[in-house]
Amino acid sequence: MPSHDVLIIGAGLAGQRAALAAAQAGASVAVMSKVHPVRSHSVAAAGGINAAISVADDWRSHAYDTVKGSDFLGDQDAIEVMCSEAPHEVMHLEHIGVTFHRNDEGELDLRAFGGASLKRTAYVADITGQAMLHVLYEQLMRHHETVDLYEEWFTTCLMLDEDGRCGGVIARDVRSGRLQAFAAKNVILACGGAGQVYKPTTNGLIVTGDGIALAYRAGAPLMDMEMVQYHPTTLVDSGILITEGARGEGAHLLNAQGERFMEKSAPNKMELASRDVVSRAEQIEINEGRGVGPGGQGLYLDVTVVPRKRTLEALREIVNLGKDFAGVDITREPIAIRPGQHYIMGGVKTDIEGRTPIEGLYAAGEVACVSVHGGNRLGANSLLDTLIFGRRAGEHAAARASAMAMPSLDSKPHMRREEERIEGIIARPREGRRVSEIKHELGEVMNSEAAVFRSEQALRRAQETIARLKEETDSAWIDDRGTVFNQDVLGAIELGFMVDCAEATVLAALERTESRGAQFRTDFPERNDEEWLKHIDISLNGDGPQVSYSPVTITQWQPEERTY
Ligand SMILES: Cc1cc2nc3c(=O)[nH]c(=O)nc-3n(C[C@H](O)[C@H](O)[C@H](O)COP(=O)(O)OP(=O)(O)OC[C@H]3O[C@@H](n4cnc5c(N)ncnc54)[C@H](O)[C@@H]3O)c2cc1C
Repeated sequence: MPSHDVLIIGAGLAGQRAALAAAQAGASVAVMSKVHPVRSHSVAAAGGINAAISVADDWRSHAYDTVKGSDFLGDQDAIEVMCSEAPHEVMHLEHIGVTFHRNDEGELDLRAFGGASLKRTAYVADITGQAMLHVLYEQLMRHHETVDLYEEWFTTCLMLDEDGRCGGVIARDVRSGRLQAFAAKNVILACGGAGQVYKPTTNGLIVTGDGIALAYRAGAPLMDMEMVQYHPTTLVDSGILITEGARGEGAHLLNAQGERFMEKSAPNKMELASRDVVSRAEQIEINEGRGVGPGGQGLYLDVTVVPRKRTLEALREIVNLGKDFAGVDITREPIAIRPGQHYIMGGVKTDIEGRTPIEGLYAAGEVACVSVHGGNRLGANSLLDTLIFGRRAGEHAAARASAMAMPSLDSKPHMRREEERIEGIIARPREGRRVSEIKHELGEVMNSEAAVFRSEQALRRAQETIARLKEETDSAWIDDRGTVFNQDVLGAIELGFMVDCAEATVLAALERTESRGAQFRTDFPERNDEEWLKHIDISLNGDGPQVSYSPVTITQWQPEERTY
C-alpha cells in the first residue's frame, strides 16, 4: 500500500501550498486530486488577494475589516494570524514567480475591494487564481523526488484506526476504476467548497463538498455551515461570476430607474460595502419591483464608467465573459447581474494549525472553517486563507510526521466496504430517479429556500425536501456500468456528499434565530449578540446531524453596530 508522511486531498491553492510547505520541511508528500491539479477550482479566482502591503496600510486595519466583515463571528486569533502573515505570503508568491500587476512607479499595484478601508488587493488582471496556481504547480514539480501526484484519483472515504486516528484514505483511480488504500501519518483535506449544492452557482461542477462530507462522516464537526455567501454580481441566466474587481475599478450598480441604490444601505462604501450587504440591497430592489430584464430579476452593473483602456487591461476576462455568456460588451453598455451563490464560509472545524479534532486529520482552504470569515467573507480573503492555512497545515503535519511511525492500520475492511458500496451504486436497477434529477432539485430548493433571505417556513420546506432527496439518493441510478472514466458513479457519490452539506446548512440556518452576516432571517431580522455570538457546530450522530455550540474568540475588537 502506498504510504506517505503527509497525504493531501486536493490540488487547489490550499492543497498545493500545503504540499510545498510539507515538502520543504522534509516530509514525504502526496497530493491527490480528482481532476488535473491546474484544473482545480482555484484556477477560476479572478479579482485578487488581500494583504496590507502598502505603506499606508497596517495588518491590524486588514484584521479589523475582516472582523467587521464577518459580522463579529470570525475568530479573531485566526484573523490576526491570517492578516499579519499576509504581506510576507504575497511577497513570497511574487518571488517565486506570480506576475502581480505593478503601477507606474514599479510598485505592486493594489485595487479596491468590498469591505476594505483602503486599497489592499494585489492582482494579476482578473486571472489571479490561475496565475498563482500555475506558479505553485511549477514549484511542486521542483520537489518531484519527495512529492507524488495522484492526478485523477477520487477519494471516497477516510480510514480511521481503532482509536479514532486518521491513518489514510481509500480512493478510486478515475481512469481505470481501480480502488486503492493509501496509508498516511497525516491527511490534509484541501477539497474546496460545496457550491454545487446550489443552482445556479459561480462554482464549477467539481465543487461538490466532498471534503466536508468525508470529514463529517468520519466524526469531525462542521462549523458556521449556515453562512453561505451570495456574490452581488453573477450573470442572471447562468450564475457566472463578474468579479468584484469591476466594482473595485469603479463600476456602479443601478436599478430599473437608473438609481445607484446602494446609497440607501451603504452611503459611505456604496458598491464596495461587504458582499452580504450589497446582495441584500440588490434582492430588496428586485423584490420591490425595481429590477431589470426578464421578470425584473436583475440589476445593472455599469462598467462603462471605468475608462475603457483600464477595463481592457485589468478586467479583460470579464469583458470576454460578458460577450460570450450575455452578448454584452461591458465597455459600452451595462450588464444585467443578480446575487448568486458563490462561497461557503462554513466547513470542517479546525484550529489555526489546520488540525481537526480527529488526530492526524487536517483541513485547509474553502473546505475548512478556522473561522476567519465568520458570517461573511470579504472579497479577496479566500485566496489568502488558502495560502496561509494551507502552509500552516503543511508545516504542522510535516513536523508531526517526523516524530511518529507510520500508523499500522488494517485497510481490508475499509476496502471491502467501499468496494461493496460502489458496486452497489453501479448495479442499481434503473428505476426511481436519476442522480442528475436529484441534484437539480437539491440546487433549486437551496436557491429558493436557503438563499439571501431565509425564514423558518422556507427552511422547514428545504429540510423536508432534503430528507426526501437523501432517501432518493440512496437508490438513484446511473447509466454507465463500466470502469474506465466512470464519471457517473463518481457523480452518485458526490450527490451523497452534497446532500450531507445541504442538510447541515439548513439545520444550522434554522438553529440560528437571528440575522448576522450572510444569514438574514426575515422572522428574526436583528443581530442578537446576547444569544448568538457563538458558532454552531454540526456533528454526525448515528445517521443524522446533531447541533452543539462553541465560543467566538475575541481578542481586541468588541462587537459593534456594522455600517458601511
Ligand atoms: C469564479 C470565482 C472567482 C473567485 N475569485 C476569487 C478572488 O478573486 N479572490 C479570492 O480570494 N477568492 C476568490 N474566489 C474563491 C476562491 O477561489 C476559492 O475559495 C479557493 O480558490 C478555494 O481553493 P481551495 O484550494 O480550497 O479549493 P479548490 O481550488 O476548489 O480545490 C479543491 C481540490 O480538491 C480536489 N478534490 C475535491 N474532492 C476530491 C475528492 N473526493 N477526491 C480527490 N480530490 C478531490 C479537487 O480536484 C481540487 O484539486 C473565487 C471563486 C470563484 C468560484
